Amino acid sequence: MSYDRIIGNAPALARLQGAVARRRVAHAYLLAGPAGVGKKLAALAFAKSLLCAKGGCDACPECARVEAGRHPSLRLLARADHKREIEIDQIRELLRELSFRAVDDKPRIVIVDEAERMNEESQNCLLKTLEEPPDRCVIVLISASPALLLPTIVSRCQTILFMPLSDEAVLTFARERLKLDAAPAGLITRLAAGCPGRAAALAPEAADLKARAAELLAAVASGDLNTIVERISKIREIDQARERAREQLTLLAFALREIMRACALQTTPDPDLVPADFAQRLARLDAEELADRIQGVLDHIRTIDLNANVPLTVEDAMLRI
Ligand SMILES: [Zn+2]
Repeated sequence: MSYDRIIGNAPALARLQGAVARRRVAHAYLLAGPAGVGKKLAALAFAKSLLCAKGGCDACPECARVEAGRHPSLRLLARADHKREIEIDQIRELLRELSFRAVDDKPRIVIVDEAERMNEESQNCLLKTLEEPPDRCVIVLISASPALLLPTIVSRCQTILFMPLSDEAVLTFARERLKLDAAPAGLITRLAAGCPGRAAALAPEAADLKARAAELLAAVASGDLNTIVERISKIREIDQARERAREQLTLLAFALREIMRACALQTTPDPDLVPADFAQRLARLDAEELADRIQGVLDHIRTIDLNANVPLTVEDAMLRI
């Protein structure tokens, strides 16, 4: 069945499955949780369960059309490549389509990915539809930042929370499904922070990540930050620059955490995660100071998400180590 591909978050999936089984499907859902945790897969499995005669078999033409995003009763809405927002014209077009009567007795399903990318005008435009939903229409909003949605939107939806998975679950996923060796699987699991989708996205770079971490930590240890900062400045697509900056600071936070763990256990840090010169530079810090440094890096990661100057944020975070 189509839900089988999703790991973890059984309570969230049970709510979606239960709604269909009891024929009590709401007009609107908000699937909220971190990026890469499985919300979109769940939304597609939910769509299949509503459109497939066998309740989402993952083997029939209906399921295949949903999977390919080409089912006539399913509309997938997302921001266009290189656009920061889901544009108001996209919402207007969607509402125009929904204003037509359905051609068959199938429900019509709308999935809005990264729903927080709708600006206020777009959200208000969609709100009218949520207040007076067309017959047999189900709107599924997906968001990693539901706080950016208007409260009036959220209150019209049944919110279903998706939580990060355990590191063990992500590690198993990285080993068994992504077919990674132990060392890269371990590193990717740490970076994925409970989100298998992030692990899958990082997998092609698994071999490079360790080298990138070593280069970053060497730069911090030597104080020569130019190469790292310049490389981020040269990434033109802002979301890619953010993603790279987040990755770099996450690698930094993990190295600090590993030093803190080693400090607590009075052992030496794992050399796979922390090169000796970096560990040496931080050897003078006690546990409290290390915790402060980690918090500082995490604060900077949050700043990246808030439209900050990305290269400067990374430089500032590295300077404060
Ligand atoms: Zn099917």
